[in-house]
Amino acid sequence: MVGGGGAATAATIAAHEKGARTMLAVKGQFGVPGVRGAGATSNPLGDFWTIRTVGPKGGLFNPPDAVHADMIQSGLGLADPELCRIFVDEVSAAIKRLQTMGMEFESKMLATMEGRASKGKTNRIVAIQKAIIEHTGTEVLEQANLTDLVVDGGRCIGAVGIDDQGEPFVVEAGAVIMATGGVGQLFQYSFNPPGNTGDGYAMAMRAGAELFNMEFMQQGLATTWPQQAILMLYEME
Ligand SMILES: Cc1cc2nc3c(=O)[nH]c(=O)nc-3n(C[C@H](O)[C@H](O)[C@H](O)COP(=O)(O)OP(=O)(O)OC[C@H]3O[C@@H](n4cnc5c(N)ncnc54)[C@H](O)[C@@H]3O)c2cc1C
Repeated sequence: MVGGGGAATAATIAAHEKGARTMLAVKGQFGVPGVRGAGATSNPLGDFWTIRTVGPKGGLFNPPDAVHADMIQSGLGLADPELCRIFVDEVSAAIKRLQTMGMEFESKMLATMEGRASKGKTNRIVAIQKAIIEHTGTEVLEQANLTDLVVDGGRCIGAVGIDDQGEPFVVEAGAVIMATGGVGQLFQYSFNPPGNTGDGYAMAMRAGAELFNMEFMQQGLATTWPQQAILMLYEME
């Protein structure tokens, strides 16, 4: 696994549950909310963090087909409908899984939690999943800045990187899952944490992978000056 945010931790747990021997290599420190290595998942800048929920089919609150249509519309028709469908079909089970692991949300309907790293209230998904990963025998490499995938005969067999002391290293693997987060820090103004420099996109492209939906950077609106703030829009009846 390359990365240490919510995607990498969830994929590590899933791979372990399917019997794989797992390794997680992360730029920065693993699993400490608000610290480089926990990625955008620990959301050090927002006041709160919300997972969009989907209600039961036929219900009044966020019925699945309405959520799907909303996602397609807000992406101006460019979002991959099948990916949106996976989100709609699986998000409720994912929220329940996180709750089983110990994640606490403020409202069942909105799956919201307070942010504010300074008050120790960041999104704790990574820390909670780290506690589970500690029992999976996963080898964790920290300060592991992966730089390129190793491809042999069209198959990815590992990755190379450089540690924080400047020492190069090689990791061999039967399969590699890239979960290195977004690319926000390539822009002058960004809400993303410093580690989100799109390394995974570049590595994947150099290895010959096809990338898509790259135009979707951030779903929410935010201001960057004179103050950083995320704007939330509510429909009032
Ligand atoms: C301010 C803010 C508020 C947000 N609010 C919400 C919200 O309310 N609801 C919501 O659903 N989403 C929200 N998001 C988006 C959400 O946080 C991200 O989509 C999600 O956390 C991405 O998870 P990830 O695991 O893919 O990436 P990340 O959590 O960014 O993790 C990327 C990981 O990859 C590692 N990495 C990067 N490059 C390398 C490399 N070369 N080698 C090794 N490791 C590397 C990083 O250290 C990090 O561990 C918000 C994002 C921000 C920035």
